[in-house]
Amino acid sequence: MLCLVVTPTKTTTFPHFLIVICPVCLSLSQCLVLGAGPCGLRTAIELALLGAQVLVLEKRESFSRNNVLHLWPYTICDLRSLGAKKFYGKFCTGSLDHISIRQLQLILLKVSLLLGVEVHTGVEFQSLIEPSGDNGWMAKLQPGSHPASTFEFDVFISAGGGRFVPDGFRHKELRGKLAIGITTNFINRHTAEEAQVAEISGVARIYNQKFFQELLTEMGIDLENIVYYKDATHYFVMTAKKQSLLKKGVIKQDFSDAEELLAPANVDEEALRCYAYDAASFSTGGKLPDLQFAPNHAGKPDVAMFDFTCMQRAENASQVREKRGKKLLMALVGDCLVEPFWPLGTGIARGFLASFDTAWMVRSWGLGTPHLKVLAERESIYQVLSQTTPENCRKNYVSYSIDPKTRYMRVNLSSIQAHQVQHLYIVDKSN
Ligand code: FAD
Repeated sequence: MLCLVVTPTKTTTFPHFLIVICPVCLSLSQCLVLGAGPCGLRTAIELALLGAQVLVLEKRESFSRNNVLHLWPYTICDLRSLGAKKFYGKFCTGSLDHISIRQLQLILLKVSLLLGVEVHTGVEFQSLIEPSGDNGWMAKLQPGSHPASTFEFDVFISAGGGRFVPDGFRHKELRGKLAIGITTNFINRHTAEEAQVAEISGVARIYNQKFFQELLTEMGIDLENIVYYKDATHYFVMTAKKQSLLKKGVIKQDFSDAEELLAPANVDEEALRCYAYDAASFSTGGKLPDLQFAPNHAGKPDVAMFDFTCMQRAENASQVREKRGKKLLMALVGDCLVEPFWPLGTGIARGFLASFDTAWMVRSWGLGTPHLKVLAERESIYQVLSQTTPENCRKNYVSYSIDPKTRYMRVNLSSIQAHQVQHLYIVDKSN
């Protein structure tokens, strides 16, 4: 079989492609990726580069998320090497280091399609179907008659975002003190006047007490921090204090439970819009002319309030299930693996690192490495993920590949041994 594959030393970026017989693909496999968010698509690209047949399922019909993501330098380099500039000329021009989620998904979708990945939208993954008769592992989908429901696979990647945890995986919860985030997007008409308004790349209360005090005195808005990015939209994200949201009537009634506090019935949408509008206008000195909310996926003004008090992290990044002699390698990537803390902007950076680590694992799987060794190595690498920062990643971004040693400064691929991951190899002996 002829397929696209990378040179032995490079395993990620376009300029390094060679067309050769792929040594891995002979035993590599069918991969199902759940979720066409940035991390699902980025993983799909690497798996396709390894020569696997890849199918991505996405329950949404379209990419409509306006929110803008700050990118670490290595992710900018990675996206450039995938041809981001060709697909989206404005990608990280000048000193810009951000992109809207929608645009990021579009770039990755185009690359995926070029590599032969099948991406199905409007189809929801519901559960795994265990092998029976001659059939291998398959997925129960909604709608049930979707052609992808006949796809048999031996690798399953969950990239379904923070809320999606496939059966068999457990999450740990990290609870901090109450933190209420607000995001809002306004239409960017790209006028000269708008171009002159300075971005706020992140200002926290402790560093600019005067600004936050004036915002409180003049507008009654009490924030911990605020970020403003000028991208496809004018995007603002801020952490608001509960008392000021209660005072301004955004939250109707006080509850100690965050879920009850921010339940839709307890939020006055109009007051929330005014709050977000005033914070945006004040923090840009009223210089953004004619501020109008951009529409969200539902066609409504794009303002959202969310709780980030509680962060989830999967206990394990991988496992293997076996039934009737058919093995399934399973892995988590993106927010589904580790939920990021938005003020640190770690989502895409750590998400992509996990995508590469997962592709490395699938490569070992395809090369016939003993299963427990594959799992032990993946879990060893997972241990370093949450400690990564822009400072402690290797600086030679162009040599990044799916080989973890090209990216992490200190990674011990055998810090976890095969005997320690036996519980991650689950054999079901029933018929
Ligand atoms: P998602 O983007 O959540 O994608 C998951 C996809 O799976 C979705 O499209 C969903 O529809 C689909 N899906 C779910 N379940 C199913 C199913 N059953 N069947 C089919 N499809 C399904 N990160 C940064 O790097 N920088 C930032 O500056 C930054 N700022 C942020 C600000 C805020 C306010 C928030 C909330 C997050 C921020 N993040 C930031 C985090 C970033 O948005 C996420 O890390 C990133 O979107 C995760 O990508 P993902 O592909 O893992 O998941």
